[in-house]
This record gives sequence, C-alpha cells and structure tokens, in this order.
Amino acid sequence: SRELDGRVAVVTGGASGMGLAVAHALARRGATVAVFDLAPPDAVELASTLAVDVDHVRSVAVDVTDGDLVDHAFAALLEERSRLDILVNAAGIAPPTPFEDITEAEWNRVLAVNVHGTFLCCRRALPAMRDGGWGRVVNFSSTAGKTISTAGGAHYTTAKHGVLGLTRHLAKVSGPDGVTVNAVCPGLIDTPMARGLLPEDELERAARSFPVPRVGQPWEVAELVAFLASDRAAYITGAAIDINGGDLIV
Ligand code: NAD
Repeated sequence: SRELDGRVAVVTGGASGMGLAVAHALARRGATVAVFDLAPPDAVELASTLAVDVDHVRSVAVDVTDGDLVDHAFAALLEERSRLDILVNAAGIAPPTPFEDITEAEWNRVLAVNVHGTFLCCRRALPAMRDGGWGRVVNFSSTAGKTISTAGGAHYTTAKHGVLGLTRHLAKVSGPDGVTVNAVCPGLIDTPMARGLLPEDELERAARSFPVPRVGQPWEVAELVAFLASDRAAYITGAAIDINGGDLIV
C-alpha cells in the first residue's frame, strides 16, 4: 500500500506551479486531493493530469481570501469525506512593484492571498485534523520569508515573513493533537509565477550564483512537501525549511 492511502488533502493554488506538483506528489502516494484554486480545471481533466481515478480528486473554485467561500469549500469536502488530513497552502501572488508604487489595494491583496488565505484555510482545517488525531499543514513561505525578496515587492516579503509567524504559532498549539505545521521556503523555482517575474534567460542567470547553479523544479519542492505530509515527518514541526540550491549560504 502507498504511504498516503486513505488520506484526504487540500492543496490551495493547486492548479499551477508548485501547488500542482504537490497535488501530483500527494495523489501518487495515494491521497485524495482537493485542489482549491481560482479557476481550476474540472475534476476529469485534473484526474487525467494527476494520473489518478476521478474519485481521488476534487476541483473546487475558491478565492482563498473569501472567508465564506473557504468555509463552504471545507464544509462540503468534510461532509463528503468525513475527514481531512493534509492542508498545503500554496496559493500566492508576488507582484514585483517597487515600494513607492505599491497602492493600498495592492498591499492588501498581497497580504490577503498569502497570509489571510492561509489563516482562513488553517482555521477550518485544524479542527478536523484535531478530531482525527492526525494532521499535516504545510505553508508556502519563501526565501522572501527570511530575507528580502529578489523579485516580489515589500508586501510579498512582509507576507512571507508573516506566514512563518503563523506557522510557528499553529505548530505550538497543534502539536499535542498529532498535527504538525511547517513552512517551506523555496528559492527560485521554475513556475508560471517565476516566469512572469523574470524572463527565462534572466531566471537562469539569477540562479548561476547559487551553490547549485540552476533554477529549481516544482517537483523538487513537491517531494519535500510530500515528506512533511507523511508519517515519517512526525517529529518536524514549526520548521521553516529552505529549498533554494544553497542561495542563502552565499
Ligand atoms: P503559480 O502562480 O504558478 O501558482 C499559484 C497558484 O495560486 C495559481 O494557480 C493561482 O491561480 C493560485 N491563486 C492565486 N491567488 C489565489 C486566490 N486568491 N485563491 C486561490 N488560489 C489563488 O505560483 P508558484 O510559483 O507555484 O507559487 C506557489 C507558492 O510558492 C506561492 O505561495 C508563492 O508565493 C511561493 N513561492 C514561489 C517561488 C518561485 O520561485 N516560483 C519562490 C518562493 C515561494
């Protein structure tokens, strides 16, 4: 049997980039994966992309910044599956706006998607995990959660630092329930987001100074997330794990 057989997972931002790679990694290990994204492909298409039976995927159109929509999406999933084991918060936006040009609306939106969305999803997922006596939450921070961002703006850096604070708080209160809460801090990963921020040649040039002198691939981050989501990672909680080709040590 596979490591995550019988587990039910929610992956926000699961329609693209690292979220999609995570959905794939969890599905391959046997989990049922519900993708929460703004406009995800339908379940049939998603199942074919993830190479699993359509019963093992759910496709849910939800803006993670909308508390009512998030509540409804979790309620419907719990009604249907009666359990929730894994939550991966990968939804994020990173506009590269210079500080002086950030409007209040854009500031609020970046905080809303990256931090508030993570809060709203954790708020609904953690009680279900506690009821089941087992749970795994993995939040997407960034290199920008530990230092300044190479590409995203000040709001993004602020938001990803915030994700680490939330992660640590929730790890402290959830540990006794068998629930771990961790963050991953990717560096430069080849996704639609990164390609939107930097043209391909600049992406590779930016990575040349890393000890591992290349851009990271979404599946490499997904492998880390799948490990954190497994039984094998039961003693890791409140961690903020770098995956960046060594960027921060140079
Ligand atoms: P991506 O743009 O490929 O995917 C992000 C997904 O989030 C998209 O499918 C998008 O539709 C979804 N999304 C955005 N706003 C949403 C909302 N309000 N509600 C629901 N879904 C929403 O990006 P990616 O590079 O795969 O990023 C995944 C995560 O990793 C993000 O949190 C990002 O900030 C973080 N990150 C990315 C990099 C990188 O180099 N690509 C580095 C560090 C951290």
